[in-house]
Amino acid sequence: MVSYNIWVPSKQKYIRMFEFNCEQYRSILKVIDDDPEFDFLLKQTLMSLLYDKTLSIEDFTILDLFVIFLQLKIRSCGSSLKLTSVCSKCETQTKVNIDLNNLIERLAVHIDRSFEKPFTANNMTVVCDVPYVNLREENLSTVSDLNKNIDHYLFSFIKTLIIGDKIIDIKNLKFDEKILICQNLPFNLLNEIKDNYIEQIHEIVSNLFILDVKCKNETCGTPLNLNLDISNINDVIRVLFRDTSSLNMIMDYASVSSNIHLGFDFFKNVSPVELSLIKKSVEESLKEENAPPSNESIDLFEKYRLETAGMVETPSEFR
Ligand SMILES: [Zn+2]
Repeated sequence: MVSYNIWVPSKQKYIRMFEFNCEQYRSILKVIDDDPEFDFLLKQTLMSLLYDKTLSIEDFTILDLFVIFLQLKIRSCGSSLKLTSVCSKCETQTKVNIDLNNLIERLAVHIDRSFEKPFTANNMTVVCDVPYVNLREENLSTVSDLNKNIDHYLFSFIKTLIIGDKIIDIKNLKFDEKILICQNLPFNLLNEIKDNYIEQIHEIVSNLFILDVKCKNETCGTPLNLNLDISNINDVIRVLFRDTSSLNMIMDYASVSSNIHLGFDFFKNVSPVELSLIKKSVEESLKEENAPPSNESIDLFEKYRLETAGMVETPSEFR
């Protein structure tokens, strides 16, 4: 199986991942608008692509996940991403084509580091990090749910708690245990973390600059700031991958497998970018076959000498 090394910002090292294939892409597209299913499948897909099976989803921050899915997109589906931005003033749609390779270079300055940071008060140290958090897992229906979500968001930044020589790994605790421990942290320590850490991180991840573009309407020309809000990582992954549909992919399978006699299964296991290249080359060869004769008359019997060997050049009875 094809695999490659992907740089993980929080770990400042490469991890090996398998190639993302057409069938995994199609599955993601199929549930892209179904929140719980999409979330479940993203995690499952990520886990199946990891070479090191001892890693778990909690080992990655949302910035890591963003970089990983960006790299998967570039390597398996190609580096171009078409986005449409609607001007807030004149409502004109402006289409932009982003080269994701350039995006990685530009973002690296801001996000390519570990954000781990310790905060100490009394005899207690709290180590914070960018979380892997998905607020959508909780259903917001009451005020207490909302408070629970805010707690979840706040406490998800707390990775480790060190009291004296005792180290508690908060990250791997159950949700309720995590909340219980964090609710009992000293108030001044929590406030310091909130003011000097969470707010800054939130600013970085909720407003990642993508591209400076102006409204296509020349009389308007309003700057359209294209930014990504990584704090909702699932939505960002949707933006990255929603450039085709699961139905389109089935049509692509059908179109290529009816022209190249390899069957659906072969195409399910290639990468999406390979499938589109195969499709393009099939379409080109079909176009050539159906093209109207050019001025220069081509003697097919001359051009395809090998294929036409033994065939009668001009069947007299049909003339
Ligand atoms: Zn405009």
